[in-house]
Amino acid sequence: MQNSSPEQAPSSRPPFLRIAESFADAVAPADFPAALLRWRNQRWANETGLGELSDEAWIAHFARFAPLPGNLPQPLAMRYHGHQFGTYNPQLGDGRGFLFAQIRDRSGRLLDLGTKGSGQTPWSRQGDGRLTLKGGVREILAANYLEALGVNTSKAFSLVETGEQLSRNDEPSPTRASVLVRLSHSHVRFGTFQRCAWMEDRESMARLVEYCVAEFYPGAEDADMARKTCNLLENIAVVTGRMIGQWMAAGFVHGVMNTDNFNITGETFDFGPWRFLPVSDPNFTAAYFDAQGLYRFGRQPVQGGWALQQLASSMLLLAEADDLARALVPYEAAYRESFSAHTHTLLGLKPSGDTATDIPFLQTLYSWMTESGANWPQTFFDWFGGPASVARAAASPQSDLYADAAFAPVRAALMDRDPERPERLANSYFLEPAPVSLVVEEVEALWSPIAEADDWSLFDAKIRHIEQARRALAL
Ligand code: AMP
Ligand code: MG
Repeated sequence: MQNSSPEQAPSSRPPFLRIAESFADAVAPADFPAALLRWRNQRWANETGLGELSDEAWIAHFARFAPLPGNLPQPLAMRYHGHQFGTYNPQLGDGRGFLFAQIRDRSGRLLDLGTKGSGQTPWSRQGDGRLTLKGGVREILAANYLEALGVNTSKAFSLVETGEQLSRNDEPSPTRASVLVRLSHSHVRFGTFQRCAWMEDRESMARLVEYCVAEFYPGAEDADMARKTCNLLENIAVVTGRMIGQWMAAGFVHGVMNTDNFNITGETFDFGPWRFLPVSDPNFTAAYFDAQGLYRFGRQPVQGGWALQQLASSMLLLAEADDLARALVPYEAAYRESFSAHTHTLLGLKPSGDTATDIPFLQTLYSWMTESGANWPQTFFDWFGGPASVARAAASPQSDLYADAAFAPVRAALMDRDPERPERLANSYFLEPAPVSLVVEEVEALWSPIAEADDWSLFDAKIRHIEQARRALAL
């Protein structure tokens, strides 16, 4: 553990230090027996000025957690509470992670480097503070795929295998361990506010609001604390609605929409048992421990609203109920607009911008997808560019579905729309018969050779294919 604080220029002091005293505890990272670099996100390393690090230096920082120069002198485990499956839990907090550093991207956006699997903390309860290698691999895949699909998401930044063996009841055990570093536009969770409310700590919550507004929502600034709090809430409601609209268009099921797994910038965050839908199914549930299907695909928009209501309730410490309720109103429209806009985006279509025609289009499309059992990513791929892809769709592995009479209304609606940047169809990605997809069978299939023979070739190929999609979609 580092005890001395490196010299820090006031301008580069990590902003979180302003509130760390009330929201975090300094902790020591685990001392891992080994450190094998499995993934470095070179694109985001370049974006944040860390691209030049040698692999050796990378491991020193992102597995041994030597502080970045002038950054946090010691890792900080964050304190938070949250509702888990509807039940309030005041025993949460970073039990296997911490804030390691705060950095900025080229545009000046503040980004947290947070960890998962970096060792025990005061919040570990019975847990070992560790992350399985499979869990780390799954997070890299999901974050990269979501990013390629234009979904607002935290990024997987680094994965190092640590040489430890773990015991888990949801993986064949013993199983290999890893430590992940993720890049996130804040690690402030809805549950960070809930903890202040539970403790009736008005002063800490006011400082948290100050921090969130100053660093993430300067437009919400107001001399009046109650108004500022409502402005902040409204901003969070809008970005959360947008995020969930993007999930629904991407066929993404988060799996564990607990209030500690929502951050204030509307980034997809804290991946667990996530799934991508193979076919449209509103009842699809990702987590085996979600017996009631509380977080099933079709409930995600409602559940996002519920989480926001919990956030708003916690803010009663600083603002009036009516004003907070008003701040939540834009959530629904933000969700609906985003769902429509992102469906068009992923179909390579210009939105009409007219809800009178967009809403029936979505209904026609998604009803057909649910009833026909069409493959979700294949459908979006085949019809990318709408009228510009008639010939491509006719050559699809599921072209028989498009020839069926039931598809006629969808076809008519697609033909009624204009392609957006159809020149993207010239990309070699669109010349293949099928898109990149990430259904659970594929994840298991690429994990098996890693588990059995330390063979990463399928994983590498999947990452390359996702990158090809990201460039082709150019969102
Ligand atoms: P999550 O399901 O990742 O959102 O975690 C829920 C809570 O359990 C958080 O407080 C985590 O830090 C904690 N947690 C999950 N797994 C572990 C573990 N293996 N060791 C310690 N804490 C854990
Ligand atoms: Mg969590």
